[in-house]
Amino acid sequence: MSHKCAKPGCGFHLPESYPLPYCPWHAAPGSGIVKVIAAAGIFAVGVGGMYAVSKVSEAFKKRKTQAEQEEWRQRAEEMRKARRSPDEDVARGA
Ligand SMILES: [Zn+2]
Repeated sequence: MSHKCAKPGCGFHLPESYPLPYCPWHAAPGSGIVKVIAAAGIFAVGVGGMYAVSKVSEAFKKRKTQAEQEEWRQRAEEMRKARRSPDEDVARGA
């Protein structure tokens, strides 16, 4: 669901992930170079920011899952070793 800038006579085409009703140019305050910088910042936050946040959270979730899996693997290995310790076999009379 893409949308356009709500400012009359603008109609700037905005990406789906862009959260504001106006294009960066009409959402930015000020004039001249300040406006250009502000518009660039708004565009980066609106489009790149949301993309980056989703990518980072995805990567973090993936890393967390891998860490959990590694922890599980190590725990299973420890349990396996503990269960097969010679002392226990002797105590059981095996
Ligand atoms: Zn606009």
